[in-house]
Amino acid sequence: MNIGILSRGPQLYSTHSLWEAGQRRGHFVYIVDHTQCQLLLENDQPMVYFEGRPLHYLKAIIPRIGASVTSQGAAVIRQFELMGLFTSTRSDALLQSRDKLFCLQRLTQAGIPIPRTLTISQPEYLSEMVEALGGFPVVIKLLESTHGVGVLLAENMTQATSILEVLMRLNQRVVIQEFIREAEGADIRAFVVAGEVVATMRRQARDGEFRSNLHRGASATPDELSPEETQIVKATVAAMGLDIAGVDLLRSSRGALVMEVNASPGLEGIETITGVDIAARIIKLVEKQVKGR
Ligand code: ADP
Ligand code: MG
Repeated sequence: MNIGILSRGPQLYSTHSLWEAGQRRGHFVYIVDHTQCQLLLENDQPMVYFEGRPLHYLKAIIPRIGASVTSQGAAVIRQFELMGLFTSTRSDALLQSRDKLFCLQRLTQAGIPIPRTLTISQPEYLSEMVEALGGFPVVIKLLESTHGVGVLLAENMTQATSILEVLMRLNQRVVIQEFIREAEGADIRAFVVAGEVVATMRRQARDGEFRSNLHRGASATPDELSPEETQIVKATVAAMGLDIAGVDLLRSSRGALVMEVNASPGLEGIETITGVDIAARIIKLVEKQVKGR
């Protein structure tokens, strides 16, 4: 079958891994840069053009959309949906999960445990807000954060106030969150394909750091979810409408809390650390879904 990977670069690990897994399973795999596509909007035959040619031969797409081009990527996915293709990530699910606030609202609605979180738009009532979270320390997060860059810890009112003043001056959308101290600088990444957890790793922040992002120098080891944690992860992807996702958990004294849902999770760390061929699982998901249509 002809499968398109929406990706900005064939040299990226995840893209290459998916390309190779598709070829190995006998497919023709095309890498389509979603930032270089033209969309033909018309009633009879909506089309996506790439490098001047119509992509009418694709049967399915696997989107790998970076956070900086979410809406552009979602528009291309939506166009493929209009053309009747199968997509391993739907455009609406991508948009919903990229909006971190919406994502947390959806999870609370579905009864999924999350860290207590507050939106904040001015530093004026900060002490009441921190009180509502259970006191200091609190985590201050930019809603647009990736790789842990926009995530800060405030131990007291002086720190929190100055951080918030700067962020608000910069017109950033911010939430404050209870700090899960018991997690001890670790989080759990569960990788889901077709609604099943296929690989799990534990990321541990380096000494003196609470953020467990691999980009921040954290180390990772294979891990396993408890049955309760597995249930939480499955409920999370169901609530977000995602077939493929990376779900990040914090292990707190009241059980696992869902911290983040990633609709375009990277394969490199988790494939290397767990040895699971996740790319092949994703190709099999595509085969099954296209066959079932
Ligand atoms: P990003 O999207 O930038 O990765 P996250 O919300 O995932 O932002 O936060 C980055 C890291 O900071 C997490 O992987 C986790 O280790 C740590 N962290 C985030 N929120 C909390 C929290 N409420 N309590 C404890 N640690 C946290
Ligand atoms: Mg994260």
